[in-house]
Amino acid sequence: MKIPDNLSPLLQQLLTEYQPLAREGKVASYIPALAQVDPDQAGVAFATLDGSVFKAGAAEQLFSLQSVSKIFGLVMAMNRLGDELWQRVNMEPSGQPFNSIVQLEWEHGIPRNPVINAGAILVADVLVSHYSASKTAFLTFLRSLCRCETIYADNKVYLSELEHGNRNAALAYLMKSFGNIESEVPQVLEHYFHQCATAINCEQLATSLLFLANRGVQPGSGIQVCSRRDAHRVNAILSTSGMYDQSGEFAFKVGLPAKSGVGGCIVAIVPQVGVIAAWSPPLNRFGNSVVAMQLISKLAEELGLSIF
Ligand code: GLN
Repeated sequence: MKIPDNLSPLLQQLLTEYQPLAREGKVASYIPALAQVDPDQAGVAFATLDGSVFKAGAAEQLFSLQSVSKIFGLVMAMNRLGDELWQRVNMEPSGQPFNSIVQLEWEHGIPRNPVINAGAILVADVLVSHYSASKTAFLTFLRSLCRCETIYADNKVYLSELEHGNRNAALAYLMKSFGNIESEVPQVLEHYFHQCATAINCEQLATSLLFLANRGVQPGSGIQVCSRRDAHRVNAILSTSGMYDQSGEFAFKVGLPAKSGVGGCIVAIVPQVGVIAAWSPPLNRFGNSVVAMQLISKLAEELGLSIF
C-alpha cells in the first residue's frame, strides 16, 4: 500500500469537512467531568511505522482515554496470564451497548469480550490480582509505549467516575457472584476507572499503538511488546467488537481494527502501515465519536486502507 509522503494536508481537509458534524452528537454526560469538555475541539494524528507522525487540528490537546484504555489493559493481561485469560472472558461480539448487563447474567458472569465494560473490568481484576501496584504498572506500560514520561491519570475524571460508577459496579458484583472476579470489587473498579481517566492526545495515542500494526514489535526500539499471535488476536477482537454495537457497520464501511472511547476518541490500526487516532467529543447513540467516525471512514476510503 502506498501512503502519500505528506498526509497532513489530507487530514486537515477531512477535519475541516467533518468537524461541523460535531453538532449531530452529544458529549458524554453520565460521567459529569466529561460533560465539561469543549465539544468543538477536534484533532487527528496518523503515526506510521517509519516514525513519521502526520497531524491536523488539536492533535496535541489532551483528552480522556476512557475505553481505548481497554486495549492496553488487555495486552498487559494477555502477557501476564497467557491463554488462561480466555477461560474467563470470551472473544465474541456482543451486539449490545458497551455497558449492557443482560448478557452477563445469561452467560454466567463470563463477559462476551474484553473490550465491553464487563470484559474490561474482568481484565482489571487480572491486573489487580497480578501486580502489587496495578495503576502504576498501567501508566508505566503506557508511558513506555508513548515514549512520554508525563502521561498521567486525571484525578477529576477518576473521582467523577468513581462517584457515578454504579452500573460498572453492578457488572463487577455480578461477575463476582459467579466467582469470576478474584480481588475485591472496589479495588478492581478503582483500577478500571483510573485507567479510563488517563489523559492523552492523538499523537501520543497513535504512536503508542504502533506495535499492533507491526506484529507486536514497537518500531524504532524493536521491543516485542506482545507476541505476533497476540497482536493479531487483539486486532481481531478490535475488528469484531471495538466499536460496540456499531462494530459490524464499522467493519463494513471502514474495514480496520478500531476502538472508541466516550472521551470522543477512535483509534484505528492499519496493519503494516500505522495507526490513526481521531478525537472529537460529541458521540452518536452508540457512544462513538461522530466526527472521528466520519473522518477515519473517509480517510480509509481515500487511501484504500480496508484490511478486507
Ligand atoms: N469509563 C467508561 C465507562 O465505564 C468507559 C466507556 C467507554 O469509553 N465506552 O462507562
